[in-house]
Amino acid sequence: MGDGWFPLGAARWRASCEAVAEAAAVGVIRSAPVHRGASPRAQHPLERGGPPMQGRGIGATWLETLAKAQGGACFWCGRPLGRRATLEHVLPFSHPDWPALPRVVQLLCLRLAHGECNQAYNTWRQTRPPARVAEVDAMVLRVARQIVRRHPLLALAASRQDRGLGAAG
Ligand SMILES: [Zn+2]
Repeated sequence: MGDGWFPLGAARWRASCEAVAEAAAVGVIRSAPVHRGASPRAQHPLERGGPPMQGRGIGATWLETLAKAQGGACFWCGRPLGRRATLEHVLPFSHPDWPALPRVVQLLCLRLAHGECNQAYNTWRQTRPPARVAEVDAMVLRVARQIVRRHPLLALAASRQDRGLGAAG
């Protein structure tokens, strides 16, 4: 990993968000009930309403979605993840906007990365000028919101979540 550069340009981030959105849409369709009266299915993360995620944990379904979208490769270095995947908050969990973001936007800002690449991203953020880091964060968020608006399933999930419908019982 280079010392001052992370592959997080807007074009690459947009393409990655598109890939995650498409993998997620496939997941939602697969989780649809086969026939009326079928036993309750496991809810896909995008269909679950309620408030934004406050914790760091995320379900296995979304981890699978990310793995599929990333082709099993680390988001940062592109090498195979194997069993060494960690959850990368490309928009950090500590970002002031995080707690109020729609869950679907939060989900779209997650990736899988090696532990050492995850740590390198943290270090990179800490050693950049804060204004530059803020620019990167604003781009990450802006693109994620655009992708959500463009994908009907994601937009629907966001609107449900904003209204708190389907909050899990
Ligand atoms: Zn890596």
